[in-house]
Amino acid sequence: MGMEMKDFRVRKDVRIRKIDERISCIFLTKPNQQWSNTYLIEDENLTLIDTGRPEAFSVNALKKSLVHLGYCVEDIKTIIFTHAHIDHVGGGIALADLLTSKNIAYYEAREKLQDFSRFNKEWIKEFMSLLSKCSSGVQQGLRESPTYELLKFPELKSGITIHRGVREGDVIDIGKTKLVVYHTPGHSSWDISLYEPEKRFLFTGDFITSPETVFVSTMGSNLDNYLDSLDKVSKISIDCMFPGHGKFSKNPYRLFEKAREHIKRCEDLILEELRICPMTLHSITSALFNGCNDPGIQLFNYGRVDTFLIKLKREGRISIDDDGKFCTVSTS
Ligand SMILES: [Zn+2]
Repeated sequence: MGMEMKDFRVRKDVRIRKIDERISCIFLTKPNQQWSNTYLIEDENLTLIDTGRPEAFSVNALKKSLVHLGYCVEDIKTIIFTHAHIDHVGGGIALADLLTSKNIAYYEAREKLQDFSRFNKEWIKEFMSLLSKCSSGVQQGLRESPTYELLKFPELKSGITIHRGVREGDVIDIGKTKLVVYHTPGHSSWDISLYEPEKRFLFTGDFITSPETVFVSTMGSNLDNYLDSLDKVSKISIDCMFPGHGKFSKNPYRLFEKAREHIKRCEDLILEELRICPMTLHSITSALFNGCNDPGIQLFNYGRVDTFLIKLKREGRISIDDDGKFCTVSTS
């Protein structure tokens, strides 16, 4: 095809990057914001990895990108969902009436995707509960921030049929391209990464994104699983990693190492703070991320700290005192 590996922008909301002769990345963006990456594989079965958010800006960008590449939504034969989060499955759910594809997800995510409206309600509850733990400044700032619309988790009326639930080691055969399934929980419990052994490509969803490596925020996140998943993918021979958000990486091992270091450093920082005095989730988050002015990011920081506190508590390294504050457990 002679296309060099760079973005081409057809109109302001269509951005596609050709990765090789069969695979393209479709970036689903909002004005001035990069959001989800989806990947289209032009093989015997036209296959899409993830579908972006359900709102019109994202769904229309996906549709227009497909048209630009010479397809329509009805042509997609297979959709693989890396995990059951709204910014990866929302587009598929919004387009469910048009789709004739066979849809694939991790077997444990199947039920959640098929009854996504119920699952999403639990998400919204979790989100609101996290928000209620934030300072009033963050709550107020968030409502006025442009990211708020994206964080609001729109109510969805339905879900999407999953025709095949896959497990670790399963192979998804879409023609010349074979994708090997790796179960890589940590970001959520149902994350899968997809490995293309010939090109040595790894599609990671939200398990590892770039430049942000450790992407945990309460619901479904688990740092022990994260560390295990990092060990697992470190053993694979990878030439290029393609995440669900952000940049591709030709040296993913550096990112895996960065992620391990990041987890260790956050734990140490939290324990250091707690050795001085017992603290609430709010005070720890403020201490660790002071100077963060983006309320949307600050909300995720609360969720991030929350996930670390759960791990430290499970390990018996911290506990909760009579005032409901977190404190270190003395080892003397
Ligand atoms: Zn996610």
